[in-house]
Amino acid sequence: MSLRFLVTGGAGFIGSAVVRKLIRETGHQVCVVDKLTYAGNLASLDPVAGSDRYRFERADIGDSERMKEIFADFAPDMVMHLAAESHVDRSIDGPAAFIETNVVGTFALLQVALRHYRALPDNRRGGFRFHHVSTDEVFGSLGAEGFFREDTAYRPNSPYSASKAASDHLVRAWHHTYGLPVVMTNCSNNYGPYHFPEKLIPLMIISALEGRPLPVYGNGLNVRDWLHVEDHADALLTVATAGKLGESYNIGGDSEKANIEVVKAVCAILDELRPDPAGPHERLIAYVTDRPGHDARYAIDAGKIGRELGWKPKQTFEIGLRRTVEWYLANPTWWGDIRSGIYRGERLGAA
Ligand code: NAD
Repeated sequence: MSLRFLVTGGAGFIGSAVVRKLIRETGHQVCVVDKLTYAGNLASLDPVAGSDRYRFERADIGDSERMKEIFADFAPDMVMHLAAESHVDRSIDGPAAFIETNVVGTFALLQVALRHYRALPDNRRGGFRFHHVSTDEVFGSLGAEGFFREDTAYRPNSPYSASKAASDHLVRAWHHTYGLPVVMTNCSNNYGPYHFPEKLIPLMIISALEGRPLPVYGNGLNVRDWLHVEDHADALLTVATAGKLGESYNIGGDSEKANIEVVKAVCAILDELRPDPAGPHERLIAYVTDRPGHDARYAIDAGKIGRELGWKPKQTFEIGLRRTVEWYLANPTWWGDIRSGIYRGERLGAA
């Protein structure tokens, strides 16, 4: 059956992976709604922009009148909500945009979605869903042991994670109070192609290629779980279509790595694929002052989505990382345009 997917934040890193997958691998109709902030990039949608099942609307999720028009015109069965301010370091320097989009914007979108849902004819109302995409960072920081589960208490530590936690609570409340049919997901760190170069892995790849220092925060021992963005997109479509209403699912890659391990792995792949006559890329590693309030460890128990929906990640970190480095080597135009314009790799969030 062909469904109508409205994807907010579809020009971002994860949203564009979802949209590419929807157009290439399903028969569904897709409407991307994106404000095109610094993080949004239509070039990430070029591979599918020619499809007659794809359309793009430049809009702010907080602009309720515009969103009402888009909902009325496109008449979605499924809303996948990925639009957000997403970078922790930026949230330290300027939290206001995070509250505006992640909290107030999500509230405005929920109101428009609820209005749309209530006005649907009986034969379409049963199929409508609102999928809220969130992060494992809402659970705070772990010590050396343990994993985040769906029932782990929320303890967000950064302005970013606090704003995402607030949005999760709003979505849950709109389900319990107003009966909006929702599903929710909380995911670990993503990596892969089309990742904005302010995030760790692309920043390291590009800086190493440019022979610049590779800034590693603190002692480099903070641990993250890494998930390839295409595995995440697969998990999101699984939950959107088959998840139980009102439930949340944790998504993880079963790949815990210390930041310094990730950086050294990038260096090793580059030494092989693009050797630098000046010496091994690891020579560029530079330890810098830690991020204020830097969470020590995130780790995900993704057992529920595996048991209940049969999803598990397909890519190992080693293969996924190599493919990611290869993509950045093959697509210098995509990141070069960003690098020469709005973002040049400067340190953010040192507070
Ligand atoms: P991103 O920053 O790459 O993309 C966000 C997109 O949202 C951009 O295209 C931007 O233009 C758009 N946007 C921002 N504000 C908007 C607004 N007010 N109205 C409409 N569009 C707006 O982010 P991402 O990494 O693709 O993350 C997508 C979602 O997944 C976010 O909700 C994020 O919290 C969540 N998430 C990300 C990760 C990760 O590792 N990147 C992990 C878990 C969860």
